Amino acid sequence: MTIKVGVLTSGGDAPGMNAALRAVVRGGLSRGAQIYGIHEGWQGAVDGGDKIQPLGWRSAGGILQKGGTILGTARSADFQTREGRKKAVFNLVSREISGLVVIGGDGSLTGALTLCNEWPALLQELAAEGKLPLAVGETPAPLRVVGLPGSIDNDLFGTDISIGADTSLQTIVHAVDQLESTASSHQRTFIVEVMGRNCGYLALTSALASAGHWVLIPEEELDARWHQKMVKALQRGREEGRRHVTVIAAEGARHPDGLPIRAETIQQILQKQLNVDVRVTVLGHVQRGGGPSAFDRILATRLGVAAIDDLLDMPADTPPRMIGLISNQPTATPLAEVIGKSQAVGKAIEEGAYSMALSLRGTSFRDQLGLLKILSQATPAPVDSSLGAIAIVTAGADAPGMNAAVRVAVRRALNAGARVVGGINGFRGMVRGQVEELNWMSVSGWVGLGGTQLGSGRYDFEPDDLGRLERVLQQHGVRAMLVLGGLNAYHNVAELVRRRNRYPGFNIPIVCLPTTIDNSVPATDYAVGADTALNNIIQAVDKIKDTAGSTHRAFIVEVMGEQCGYLPLMSALACGAERAYLPEDGIAVGRLEADVEELREGFRSGKSLGIVIMGEYASHHYNTDVIRRVMQEEGRDEFEVRACILGHVQRGGVPTPFDRIQASRFANRAILHLLDQIREDDNSAHVIGLLGGRIELTPLDEAMALLDPSAGRPRQQWWYELGQVLERMSRSPKG
Ligand code: ADP
Repeated sequence: MTIKVGVLTSGGDAPGMNAALRAVVRGGLSRGAQIYGIHEGWQGAVDGGDKIQPLGWRSAGGILQKGGTILGTARSADFQTREGRKKAVFNLVSREISGLVVIGGDGSLTGALTLCNEWPALLQELAAEGKLPLAVGETPAPLRVVGLPGSIDNDLFGTDISIGADTSLQTIVHAVDQLESTASSHQRTFIVEVMGRNCGYLALTSALASAGHWVLIPEEELDARWHQKMVKALQRGREEGRRHVTVIAAEGARHPDGLPIRAETIQQILQKQLNVDVRVTVLGHVQRGGGPSAFDRILATRLGVAAIDDLLDMPADTPPRMIGLISNQPTATPLAEVIGKSQAVGKAIEEGAYSMALSLRGTSFRDQLGLLKILSQATPAPVDSSLGAIAIVTAGADAPGMNAAVRVAVRRALNAGARVVGGINGFRGMVRGQVEELNWMSVSGWVGLGGTQLGSGRYDFEPDDLGRLERVLQQHGVRAMLVLGGLNAYHNVAELVRRRNRYPGFNIPIVCLPTTIDNSVPATDYAVGADTALNNIIQAVDKIKDTAGSTHRAFIVEVMGEQCGYLPLMSALACGAERAYLPEDGIAVGRLEADVEELREGFRSGKSLGIVIMGEYASHHYNTDVIRRVMQEEGRDEFEVRACILGHVQRGGVPTPFDRIQASRFANRAILHLLDQIREDDNSAHVIGLLGGRIELTPLDEAMALLDPSAGRPRQQWWYELGQVLERMSRSPKG
């Protein structure tokens, strides 16, 4: 029997809800389910009629990149009543809908849980009233419910991040970047109020990503003199030479007595105590708007497919649950637990139990708050000569986020009393003696700068270089080294380590920090720079899509990534592409033929646009132009084929908040590790990375052993299996 599943978006809208809807619809159809769209949130379930409509494959087309929700959303008072929910039960049962995917925040999910709990009783009542369109003796199936976390606030337990939070963060950080350029021209202080209800996530992460100077969030226990602490820290920053100040305040921030902290209160305090011009910007609903970021599109797609699969596979009496992303894996958590623990934070804040609220937010939240506090309060410490200098070098190709990492690394090292020297123009410059002392203000304003201020470039050591590099390190008293880059940089470091016998000067602790748009390095799920590149790609492809016009047109978009298929596959997922050609798979002629045939069929059945993403090294022998010609020949006059090579725009521009934050967290942890190693006289080399949501240091030799040396990428790549999701999203089931 075909299972019928309803899907709704409810409560506050969030960018990425459409991407989740598309994934639920297409994932369900690909498994033979029938999907019904319930319009206007829970109100649509109560109203029934044309508010509940079947959704076909095409109805989920062209929506991936759209903000808001095409189903509409509402806050439904009717659904809060038992009578309203009884109407909803009737409307669902009379359409034989026995499953629901609910995309929304804790309110919407609470509604889902309540409906599930009352389902049997409401059915009985309806049956007793003779209202159920059931045959005698027939019992309707129990309701299966799966929730998806759709909320910019990121306030839900059961997921490390909710759908919409990353986009909102991008919007906030973009606004703060803009404010900072004007603030610094006028030496102004800005207070930016951001959304998040009881959750400080957006305020905290936007402050970290924009190098905000102070943050106020609901979960932090403030002491009675919090404003004096804030004023003192901001004053110190001015003494160091800072031209402007940004304070980020969460809308839910509170005084120690529980009363809300209003932005105007902070304004008055700062104006009076610092004697400066202070302006307030309340960002408001722009934070909800706009098309979803690459991360949100991929997150929503992964979770949406996992949710419909979970619903179709679960035994009928499974208690309702939510699919969230935990440690980078879609994971189910019972709705009762999600709601209970999510609401517990709000309750703890209401009751003034701030440390409890903070502990409920999890480790990553606490780590980021700790880092922000340290960065905003840190000042250069007197030089501790026992620590010597730490050298920082950006090696290999440049990547967005390198400057953010260097900024934190420099300040953390100076704050501990170490000296810092920067290698100029990567190892090529360093072996030629290009090294500069870096101080506190040398990295001011770097957080949002693209490329690398230190200069970089791929370099393979020449025979004389190692001796020269050893001398340069010794001349500057370098006791440890932080190397930022991709595979080339990792190989450079591996060579230094291999040659330690001959060059004892390389017997210093070294950490490699993954910064490459290709995401091709071992021992990390994400490299800094890849998120910015993905966003650059989707922005370009969104524009290309607009030019399709009325003709049938297929675009082959060539993206970077070298020998690693991460950028092509993830950008294909985020753009809604039909196909991705990856270096891991190569391109066989038979595959090309089948793909042309599918494109042709797609166009015949009403599609007007096709996107194929091609990795720059997907094939040894066919380049993008060859693929275009083959497709054009095979497509005959039925569709046009255009090629577009995106090139270096992919690695340019300001780094995304995600990249800035990862860069800052990696740099912080790497420097602390190097300082410990200097103190303990431990010279081992490591790579730092994000593994399953945790920052880990892996010994360099172990990391390098994860590489497939002939392929130039790690043997195991977590994202590779997402190719199946792309297939399901792009291939409409036949018949
Ligand atoms: P969000 O889902 O973004 O948290 P709301 O809190 O406004 O948004 O909830 C959205 C809708 O979910 C509400 O308008 C209501 O219809 C439904 N809802 C919320 N709480 C409950 C509840 N306790 N019982 C039944 N329905 C609820």
